[in-house]
Amino acid sequence: MTSTKSEDQNQPSINLIGSQCGCGIITVPPVNFCRICNKKPEEISVTPQGKILACTRVHVTAKGFLAPLGIALVELQCGAKVMCNTQSGQTYQIDEEVKILMKDGRLMICE
Ligand SMILES: [Zn+2]
Repeated sequence: MTSTKSEDQNQPSINLIGSQCGCGIITVPPVNFCRICNKKPEEISVTPQGKILACTRVHVTAKGFLAPLGIALVELQCGAKVMCNTQSGQTYQIDEEVKILMKDGRLMICE
């Protein structure tokens, strides 16, 4: 029996989409032009795992964000650095290994 559609829709995407330029720069999410050499990069799939470079919790947030909001800078295994939200304002230690997912158009750290 094949898996049902409703199950698949609730699953976060396994890999993240990024872009890799001929000069080596990888950007997540993908961009139309490389920030270093301005060429058009290719879309690639990247492993959604990395380590925490910095993490903080914000108690006064912009409209559309629930407080407290955890924000982390994560260096992915591919070398790209991404800003992520954390669930329920959770914070992480520097160098802690984390897994990322794209949820409602935002990068989130998995619990
Ligand atoms: Zn480039």
